[in-house]
Amino acid sequence: MPVAGRALRNSPDDVVALTEQQVRDRLPKGEQLVISIGRDDLAGHDDDELTRLVESTDGGVIVVGVTYDRQNSVRVYDQSCPECGSSTATLLGPADQHVAPEFRSQANLYQCAECGTAWDA
Ligand SMILES: [Zn+2]
Repeated sequence: MPVAGRALRNSPDDVVALTEQQVRDRLPKGEQLVISIGRDDLAGHDDDELTRLVESTDGGVIVVGVTYDRQNSVRVYDQSCPECGSSTATLLGPADQHVAPEFRSQANLYQCAECGTAWDA
């Protein structure tokens, strides 16, 4: 699900890096991927739409950001997001390394469906 993208015309690498950061900031935290695609990256790929898009930059790159859902994610409604207070969350799985080992088996990792914040509870 692409949600943000930029086409950069003949931009130096630092502008590309900055744009990648801007796209990253606009996406929900957590499950996101931001990539830059230039002509060299398309060698061997047969995607007319993408090729046209990249060629429109005249040797530049396009920066694309996507978010994705993990398979088998479970919606839960008994959690409250610490950032935005939303009660619609996704159960991502067991608690991660932010939880002390002795409590890890009792906690789960949740992600807010509204703002993307993840937390253990
Ligand atoms: Zn939230």
